[in-house]
Amino acid sequence: MAPPAPVPPVNPSGSPHSPPPSHTATVAGVPVDTRHWIGGERLASASATAPATFTDHSPIDGAPLAEIARGGVAEARAAVVAARDAFPAWAATPPAERARLLHAVADGVEARAEDLAAVETADNGALLRSHRRGVMPRVAHNLRYFADRLLALAHDDFETRGHTNHVSWDPAGPAVLITPWNAPLMLASWKIAPALAAGNTVVLKPAEWTPLTASLFADIAHEAGLPAGVLNVVQGYGAEVGEPLVADPDVRRISFTGSVPTARRIAAASAAHLVPCSFELGGKSPLLVFADADLELAADLAVEQFDNAGQICLAATRILVEESVRDAFLGHFLDRVTKLTQGDPRDETTDIGPNIHPRHVERVDGFVRRALDAGAKAVTGGGRNTALGGNYYLPTLLTDVAQHSEIVQEEVFGPVLTLQTFPDGDEDEAVRLANGTRFGLAATLATGDRERAGRVSARFVAGTVWVNCFFVRDLSAPFGGSRDSGIGREGGDWSFDFYCDLKNTVTAPKGWARHG
Ligand code: NDP
Repeated sequence: MAPPAPVPPVNPSGSPHSPPPSHTATVAGVPVDTRHWIGGERLASASATAPATFTDHSPIDGAPLAEIARGGVAEARAAVVAARDAFPAWAATPPAERARLLHAVADGVEARAEDLAAVETADNGALLRSHRRGVMPRVAHNLRYFADRLLALAHDDFETRGHTNHVSWDPAGPAVLITPWNAPLMLASWKIAPALAAGNTVVLKPAEWTPLTASLFADIAHEAGLPAGVLNVVQGYGAEVGEPLVADPDVRRISFTGSVPTARRIAAASAAHLVPCSFELGGKSPLLVFADADLELAADLAVEQFDNAGQICLAATRILVEESVRDAFLGHFLDRVTKLTQGDPRDETTDIGPNIHPRHVERVDGFVRRALDAGAKAVTGGGRNTALGGNYYLPTLLTDVAQHSEIVQEEVFGPVLTLQTFPDGDEDEAVRLANGTRFGLAATLATGDRERAGRVSARFVAGTVWVNCFFVRDLSAPFGGSRDSGIGREGGDWSFDFYCDLKNTVTAPKGWARHG
C-alpha cells in the first residue's frame, strides 16, 4: 500500500458539531433540501414524540453534513396516499409521454452530474472519479434504457379457436422502493426507472446513512415535469418510516435492496396484503482461479473486489485457487495490492476510500478479529488504516480459513477477502466450495479452457456468472440472486414483469353489433 495522504475536511466552513437548523444543507458546495418530497411538495417531519430530524455524517471525515427530516408513520402514509392519488392519471399517460418524461429526467441528471457526484461522494465515501465517470452516467442510462424498453414491450396476440388473446402490461399501482447506502442513486434509479416507465407511482426510501442524492433527484424529476405525486421521497430510519411503508394497504409492489434480515421483516409485513416483493440481497460470491487461467488477469479480478471499499453485494470475496498455482497467484495479487492508494475518495489517485460508518467498520473488524482468533492469517491488511482515522479499513486477505468458518460463510461488506485452495484437477471440489454458502448472487471464474468455463458455469448456483471478467452487465439481462441472495429478477422485461400486472384479454369472433 502506498502511504496515505491526510484527509482534508468535507465541509471546511461548517461547524463540526451543530450544522445550522435549516431546510437546506450545503454539501460539497451544493444546496440540498433536507425535507421529504411528498405529493409535489417539500415537507418537514412533524412528530410530537420523536426528534423531527436526524444528522447525516460524511464517512470521509465523520463531519456532519445535514439535518435530515426524520419520517415516521404519518409521512409514510402521506407519501403512499400521494402515490395512490397520482396513480390513475400516470397509469393513463400514454407510454410515449411517460418515456419522454423519463428522458427529460435523464437530461436533468446529466446536466447536474457533477453536483450529484460530489454530493454522493461526500455522503457515501465512494470514489468521486467513479461517481463522475461511471455511476452518474449509469443513473441517466437506467432512465433512458427503461423509457425505451417500455416502447419496445411485446404486446403479444395469440389465437385460440378463432378467439384473440391479447396480452397487456398493466401497471400494478404504488410501488415502495427501499435502497441501501452502498450505491444510493444508482440503485434508486435502477428501481425508479422501470417502475415509473411501467406506469406505477413511487415512494422511495433511501438509506438513512445516504439520504442526499435522492433529494436532489426529486428536484431534478420535478424540474423535468414529472407530475406531483408520481415520485415521492421519504427520509428516515427503516424501523420508523420503512416499516409503515411496507405494511401500507395501498402499496402494490415492494422492491428492496439490502440485507437478508431486513428482507425477512419486509416479507412478513407485506404478507398481510399479499404484496409482491422483489429482493436483491447480500452475497458471498466466489472467484475460482484454475491453473490454466491467465494469472495476471485473475489477480486483476481479485483486486477489483476491493472496489467501493468492498461494499458491493456482487463482490467475489472468496478466492478459490487451484493448489499448484496458489503461490504464483498470490504473488501477482500482493504485487497489485502494494500499488493501491487508500485515502480521500475525492482525490483522483485514490483507489480505496472509507467505509460507510464507524458502526459498520466495527462490524467489519469484528469479523476479521474473530477469524484471526480462530487461526486465520492476514497476508495483507487485517485492521484499520490508523493513519487515516477510524473509517478506513486496510484491504485485507485472509488465508488458513475453513469452509465452515464465519469469515467464509457470512457477508462482511468491507475490503476483506479470503483465500482457499482446491486440489489440482479437482473441478468437483472447486464447485462444491464455490456453492458452499447459503448465498447465490454471483460467481466469477478465471480459466483458459472454454469447455471448462461452460461446464463449471453451468454448475454454479448464482444469478450472474462472469468468466474472465467482472461487473460487466447489460441492462436487458436478468439480475438477482438465488437462495438467500434474493427473490425474483429485475432488468429488461423482467423489471416490467415485476412492476406490472399482466393481463390477457380474450375476444370472441362473435357477438358484435352490426353497424351501418
Ligand atoms: P439494510 O437491510 O440494513 O437496509 C437497507 C434499507 O432498508 C435501508 O434503507 C434501511 O433503512 C431499510 N430498512 C431497514 N429496516 C427496515 C424495515 N424494517 N422495513 C423497511 N425498511 C427497512 O441493508 P444495508 O443498508 O446495510 O445494505 C447492505 C446490504 O445490502 C448488504 O447485505 C448488501 O449485500 C445488500 N445489497 C444487495 C445488492 C443486490 O443487488 N443484491 C446491491 C447492494 C447491496 P435505514 O438503513 O435507512 O434505517
